[in-house]
Amino acid sequence: MSWVDLHSHSTVSDGSFPPEAVVRMAANAGLDALALTDHDNIGGVAAALKTGRLEGILVVPGVEISAEFQRGTCHILGYFFDPSDAALREKLDTLQRARAERNPKIAMKLQNLGIDITYKEVQAVAGSEQVGRPHFARVLMDKGIVKDFNEAFDRFLGKDKAAYVDKFRYRPEEAFAMIQGAGGVAVLAHPYTLNLSDEELAALLKQWVEWGLKGMEVFYPDHTEEMIARYERIADTLGLIKTGGSDFHGNNKEGSVLGDCGPRGCPSMDVVKQLKQAP
Ligand SMILES: [Zn+2]
Ligand SMILES: [Zn+2]
Repeated sequence: MSWVDLHSHSTVSDGSFPPEAVVRMAANAGLDALALTDHDNIGGVAAALKTGRLEGILVVPGVEISAEFQRGTCHILGYFFDPSDAALREKLDTLQRARAERNPKIAMKLQNLGIDITYKEVQAVAGSEQVGRPHFARVLMDKGIVKDFNEAFDRFLGKDKAAYVDKFRYRPEEAFAMIQGAGGVAVLAHPYTLNLSDEELAALLKQWVEWGLKGMEVFYPDHTEEMIARYERIADTLGLIKTGGSDFHGNNKEGSVLGDCGPRGCPSMDVVKQLKQAP
């Protein structure tokens, strides 16, 4: 049986391992394919593709775009786009700039909450990694302000928590268009973070399918068997490709393991073929 992990992060966004290392780990784990899906950034794709050829594992060019969504967190995965597409690169550059401007603001919010923290300390912890919220979490842990990553996000860094800073995002339909414009396929990541009921999700996705959505991440570590069954039903009704991944972040996300896509396991190579052949 073939198995594939279609959701992973490297140091190009907020993962703890460089793209080459993530691909090597996937090959060592025996995966048949891996998609590197860094947040708003395709800077690691070329290195991942090259390592994939050396290690004999299929690497799928990927990205995870944060999109505007009132009710919850909306992440759109893109696969099989042309990494050299100029329009896609330019739109992603805009998002990276927004991300860079956001970090010093998070430090300021934490300071305003009376926490003894400087942005320099966070940059030092990040080292060569792109600064992101996991680095803030690590500094908060090191200072004994929180006991673990979950507490750091629940109290300070998570959406709408005390030190949360909003940043510019594209609307979901703009994310679909960016991915499709570069010849890629758009897939909704971890649907539960949208915070919708099944009826609301089904209605929304019906619209999104018309706008170009081709798949949904059904197999995911945070999904229960029951959630997977519900998402499967919605995906089947709408003709969406059922993808899955581990959302591996290395040491920057507790419990994320390459090749662990939740209770029903990872999808097979068949899903990669469906994504590649999606119109
Ligand atoms: Zn995500
Ligand atoms: Zn992710």
